[in-house]
Amino acid sequence: MSGMASVDDRICECGKPARWANDPHFPVEFDAEMNEYHMVRDGAKALMLYCSWCGGRLPESKRGTFFTTPDPAEMAEVESLLKDVDSHEDVVRLLGPPDEIHELGGSDWDKATGAVLARWDRHYRYSKRWKSLVLYVPVIIEGRFSYMIHGHDLVRKRPQMG
Ligand SMILES: [Zn+2]
Repeated sequence: MSGMASVDDRICECGKPARWANDPHFPVEFDAEMNEYHMVRDGAKALMLYCSWCGGRLPESKRGTFFTTPDPAEMAEVESLLKDVDSHEDVVRLLGPPDEIHELGGSDWDKATGAVLARWDRHYRYSKRWKSLVLYVPVIIEGRFSYMIHGHDLVRKRPQMG
């Protein structure tokens, strides 16, 4: 006896998740494109990895196949380029104008105190300079500067069907 709880590797075959997703009274949704079950309520979503009825594993998500994995060498290049940068203006001086501007605001909170660390009203996206990654630079209206690195979204690169 190992004394360790082992993760159940059995796949869910009870069929309940599919029934929940088809029942408008249940807060469960199936995303066919990503092959994922979500718990949903009031616009909030949580990915389900296991069936809450039989405990079996739910189907493998395809999410990982929709994004490139940022290359460590390219990430290191971004980090070294931006190491002395402390505003979005600095980034534009260094890299030139962004490839895209996303009108998507957001904020970053200190989880412990609830204090706002930063607020932004849009993002600059640098999507062409690096092969494996996209650099997101929030246009900060309050708080400290930060940036984010994501993989390329492969969905947008796919040819349009039909
Ligand atoms: Zn199940």
